[in-house]
Amino acid sequence: MGAARLTIDLDSIAANWERLARLSTGETGVTIKADAYGLGAAPVARRLARAGARQFFVAIAEEGPTIRQAVGAGPEIFVYSGHMTGDAQTIRNLGLIPLVNSAEQLARHLEALPGHPFGIQLDCGMNRLGMKPAEWAALRDLALQARPRLIVSHLACADEPDHPMNGAQLTSFRAMTAGCDVPRSFSATGGILLGPAFHFDLTRPGIGLYGGAPFAEAFPAVALELPVIQVRELAAGETVGYGGSWTAPAPARIATVAAGYADGILRCLSNRATVWADDTPCPVVGRVSMDLLTVDVTHLDAIPDALDLLGPHQGIDELAEAAGTIGYEILTALGARYRRRYAGQRA
Ligand SMILES: *Cc1c(COP(=O)(O)O)cnc(C)c1O
Repeated sequence: MGAARLTIDLDSIAANWERLARLSTGETGVTIKADAYGLGAAPVARRLARAGARQFFVAIAEEGPTIRQAVGAGPEIFVYSGHMTGDAQTIRNLGLIPLVNSAEQLARHLEALPGHPFGIQLDCGMNRLGMKPAEWAALRDLALQARPRLIVSHLACADEPDHPMNGAQLTSFRAMTAGCDVPRSFSATGGILLGPAFHFDLTRPGIGLYGGAPFAEAFPAVALELPVIQVRELAAGETVGYGGSWTAPAPARIATVAAGYADGILRCLSNRATVWADDTPCPVVGRVSMDLLTVDVTHLDAIPDALDLLGPHQGIDELAEAAGTIGYEILTALGARYRRRYAGQRA
């Protein structure tokens, strides 16, 4: 069977976008940074454009070319990191829209590309990117004169609906944008689920498109099958893998499968993850190594050709839970070595 196989269901991603768009009171863009959270920016962008998405958000200008090529000239491509030194040519040539984060970035943009579209990113409490209230107050008139396309801000705790930061950030964002006649975008996946007060003119979900929490109703977008390379019999007391970190308590049958931490199967899943033989769970035993991991299949009647790491019984959030991380990290860690199959491309 060769390399492990990652199946990306573009129809599920499109369906997730449509459902998030139905929940959003305004327009619904897509966050497609980090190679569409590891799933492949070009095919994902094409599919989402066909579904009707018209606003694409990337992290850095370097991600622009792939998206522009995939979606063509019409859709808007916004850049969260704004206008950084050296970005002007890429921004101009590809028609990207930087979300400027500071007075310095605003000056850089207006100087390098006068008349070229831009947006503003405000910091209403996350303390990561964007202009804080005092900086914005000083700059606001000048910035608005240059006619920004969009004002965005970002929620720090949107995946916790009862968190007091949500309301506090909403109040702050409203105050900072009061009287601005510019479209506003405030919510990613979590904010959409907080309700219409958080939606403003444009939402920009990421993780919900790709099947992750907090969008509990999302269709899963990925499946990952790991081919079995070899099976061996162990006597009670023998150990498996680097460091001998698992000892067979009784005679055991161990399957070695073709994927490891170089493929994004985090090493902290050693002796913790579960893979599935159809409907039967099988524990990963021993350390995850770079290219391989080992699975206790003693209880199986027959050894399958492949075991499922992501599939009907285990999604990205369950795997993340076992690894002590979040679905976002599971997705973006997925390596380049898989055989990738895109389902639903022409649908
Ligand atoms: C990544 C990101 C998003 C998308 O967030 P999700 O939680 O994946 O929906 C939206 N806005 C900004 C500023 C981001 O950095």
